[in-house]
Amino acid sequence: MSINPGVLYVVATPIGNLQDITYRAVEVLRGVDLIAAEDTRHSRALLSHYAAATPLLSLHEHNEAAQSPRIIARLQAGAAVALISDAGTPLISDPGYRLVSAAHRARVRVSPVPGPSAVIAALSVAGLPTDRFVFEGFLPAREAARSRRLRTLAGESRTLVFYESSHRVVACVRAMREHLGGERKALIARELTKAFETLHGDSLAGLCEWLDRDPNHRRGEFVVVVRGRPAEADGDGDGRALAVLQVLAAELPLRQAVDLAARITGQARNRVYRLALSLRGQG
Ligand code: SAM
Repeated sequence: MSINPGVLYVVATPIGNLQDITYRAVEVLRGVDLIAAEDTRHSRALLSHYAAATPLLSLHEHNEAAQSPRIIARLQAGAAVALISDAGTPLISDPGYRLVSAAHRARVRVSPVPGPSAVIAALSVAGLPTDRFVFEGFLPAREAARSRRLRTLAGESRTLVFYESSHRVVACVRAMREHLGGERKALIARELTKAFETLHGDSLAGLCEWLDRDPNHRRGEFVVVVRGRPAEADGDGDGRALAVLQVLAAELPLRQAVDLAARITGQARNRVYRLALSLRGQG
């Protein structure tokens, strides 16, 4: 496989199990001139596992703005550079956005070397609808901001995916129970691909109890997958959508009222649009 000069390769690395890396990722990591890594000490250990002795340069949240122009200059001078993070796919709740956007602005070619990401790994085993989903990353650390965020998500009908750390998982799942409803189906994916990998599906109320039951359940890294707001039985859903529409349509243009009513009630936009037309007919 040839490594092209002047290309920024965005390379996914394992999220736990060191065997979860592609052949191409290993070749790229061995073959590039430079690897920009979030934590060089952590990555040095990873790279030595794959016998890659490529020089490392640190690129993390706090130095990305300063480092990006230097890396772009190296790329423009013809170096091939790989970007990695501590685990999984760079830029997915990880640094790299500034570097990649700077590369696009500088017309440097950017090429993905895809592989693991905890969001996709969790969705692939959650047994919840995956044709559409919303990735929310980490919820805000502060309680008030977290509650606000969850309230805006309460009407979302697509499957929701959150990242969580061990010290906040209990508070976050409790907040989800409060704002999304205790009955809502969800799944905790803990320590994926590692020795203590655990999948536990239940209602949000059940997940809170499960987390409280055993301190081991609260250890490690977590993805929380939550089912979207269930479509209500047609009759009930239509009734609620009509009630919301009536209020909004009195104040807003029809299209905007329909969009908002669909988001608030979790009903399909087409269906709400048809209800709006029937309302208009009655009016
Ligand atoms: N870039 C990574 C990716 O592509 O998934 C995510 C990095 S983010 C800083 C770290 C978070 O990802 C963890 O707090 C956890 O929520 C999730 N995560 C990473 N590895 C995981 C694993 N093996 N099992 C469960 N969650 C994991």
